Amino acid sequence: MLTGRRYLLAFTPEQETLAELIGDACRAVWNTALEQRRAYRQRGAFTGYVEQARQLAEAKKDFPWLAEAPSHTLQQTLRDLEKACKTHGTFKVRWRSKRKSPPSFRFPDPRHLAVERVSHRWGRVRLPKLGWVRFRWTRPLGGRVRNATVRKDGRRWYIAFCVEDGLVELAPNGKAPVGVDRGVKVAVVTSGGWMCDREFFTPGETIRLKRLQQQLARQRKESTRRAATRAKLARLNARIRNRRADFLAWTANRLTRDHGLIVVEDLKVKNMTASAKGTMERPGSRVRQKAGLNRAILAKGWGGLLTALEHKARYNGSRVVRVPAAYTSQRCSACGQVDAKSRESQAVFACTSCTYAGNADVNAAKNILAAGLAVTGRGDLAIGRSAKRQPPETRAA
Ligand SMILES: [Zn+2]
Repeated sequence: MLTGRRYLLAFTPEQETLAELIGDACRAVWNTALEQRRAYRQRGAFTGYVEQARQLAEAKKDFPWLAEAPSHTLQQTLRDLEKACKTHGTFKVRWRSKRKSPPSFRFPDPRHLAVERVSHRWGRVRLPKLGWVRFRWTRPLGGRVRNATVRKDGRRWYIAFCVEDGLVELAPNGKAPVGVDRGVKVAVVTSGGWMCDREFFTPGETIRLKRLQQQLARQRKESTRRAATRAKLARLNARIRNRRADFLAWTANRLTRDHGLIVVEDLKVKNMTASAKGTMERPGSRVRQKAGLNRAILAKGWGGLLTALEHKARYNGSRVVRVPAAYTSQRCSACGQVDAKSRESQAVFACTSCTYAGNADVNAAKNILAAGLAVTGRGDLAIGRSAKRQPPETRAA
């Protein structure tokens, strides 16, 4: 199976300058090619990867700085753009700004890469144009390298190898199914009542973040101090991101290890209405206390959790099913009645038609599990569903 391995790079100053240059070139290629695609579309024409790659080769003669970057990384940028345009539509794909998108480029051909371990703590990789680059050997590579992506995160540079680890997908582990909901008070809640959460900001970091943002708002544009503040913010955000990634991987591994089927709400449905402040149906809690910080982080983390679950499921013999999330927080998991009044408070669910009462998030997770079981045909259909399935004449009688 394909998996990712990320290491911290130790560029020499010259290598770092060159890496920035390559990043700039890839960004320029992305933006120019996107602009061209849009212009074509506006007059009813089309241009694609093959044509753009040909033009790129031509452009190198006129722009020597383009030739500084390895041609494969530039072509890969065009391929990524083609994929993005096909998935999201040419006019929805974003520009890459120097400020908002850190340098990132991929070496798609493993024949141009060589990786070796040089000592207990260090490894090195040979990259086109950059030469041998050292990186911190923090974990074994565990397989054959397929490609490599170099990316700047905060102030640091990383290399991520895509590795074929030679493992085969595990057979179904036959363990109990579970429903998972994005909780209000905690990040992840299961139908079995397991709750999992982590603070992504320490109190000190919350204060520091606020102060840095205020500083940024005061500082003059293009000033050196502003750039310094921005760098500090980027470092802080990178730390939070790492913490979140760690939490998601840990949670996903735990869930897929202990369960054979994991039912989650489909991202698209919630995503349209969800914000840091929550929704009408389910307003976010602690919005004032934390200014929605952790909640906003979680809103982002949910997509990451789905990805992590699907990845880990293949290693743990588990399966992930997505279901639409309509009414999961208003429906009673015991009798199936939907009533907004049943939601007594943020945390408590008390059914208005039967005696069921309990944690509101656990109730929602139970509904999600029931919906998943109905979809996969592994459980009884919900009461509401089976009524609809009756032939019309019986219903009329
Ligand atoms: Zn009920």
